[in-house]
Amino acid sequence: AGVLYVVATPIGNLGDLSERARRVLAEVDAIAAEDTRETRRLLAYCGISAELIAYHDHNESELTPRLLEALESGQNLALVSDAGTPLISDPGYTLVAAARERGLTVVPIPGASAAICALSASGLPSDRFLFLGFPPRTQARRRAWIEAVAREPGTLVLYESAKRALDTLRDLQAVLGDGRRLVIARELTKQFETFLLGSAGTLIARLESDPEQRLGEMVILVEGCPDSETDATHNESIRVLRLLGESMP
Ligand code: SAM
Repeated sequence: AGVLYVVATPIGNLGDLSERARRVLAEVDAIAAEDTRETRRLLAYCGISAELIAYHDHNESELTPRLLEALESGQNLALVSDAGTPLISDPGYTLVAAARERGLTVVPIPGASAAICALSASGLPSDRFLFLGFPPRTQARRRAWIEAVAREPGTLVLYESAKRALDTLRDLQAVLGDGRRLVIARELTKQFETFLLGSAGTLIARLESDPEQRLGEMVILVEGCPDSETDATHNESIRVLRLLGESMP
């Protein structure tokens, strides 16, 4: 059987495409791509012409059997998304899971991912973090979603579109308060790469007063729950357990 390569592509700076990724993309029989136009541009930059198959959220389950068949018949395939690492808030999970289930060989070709790229230079604790992907789009659901991770001690890493950034920052402030450090990592690896550091309130004021900071792509990072708050919850749980114990026969 053939091999499925999961190939990371740059998140802005084309220089970040690895030598190995380039070689794999040039050698596979076909490339399953989230947006074939986007991938064609990358291939043109590398001087590669390849067969492209459109593989995105809307045809993922329909196309997966066809791609599995191709793999089983001995073809080597590469999976790429528009930018960064496939499956990380991008299509590919259905295919990779199904390939694994059938015992096919899946080989990762690592490279950029905006979440790790942002975390690595944010200055926030990186020993423990929780990747959350994109927040829900309505305020009520977004607040509940933030509430659910409010006690997480690790750094929170989320993706957001620039046009919804202010709403999300306001909800982070409403649910978590203004005591944590936040980082907005914008336009990573590109010409206008910017890191903004501060409390939710500071960053909200910055985005409100400077429309440029609301353009492009961004990762939002939030310092984890401070020890004192997790301790407080812990102490509260112990108190409740003790009360329960006292009221039990
Ligand atoms: N699979 C990709 C990865 O590994 O990073 C992520 C794809 S997701 C659909 C796109 C989101 O990733 C954007 O909305 C933004 O939050 C983040 N992102 C991608 N490229 C970025 C960049 N150059 N700078 C900042 N954030 C970026």
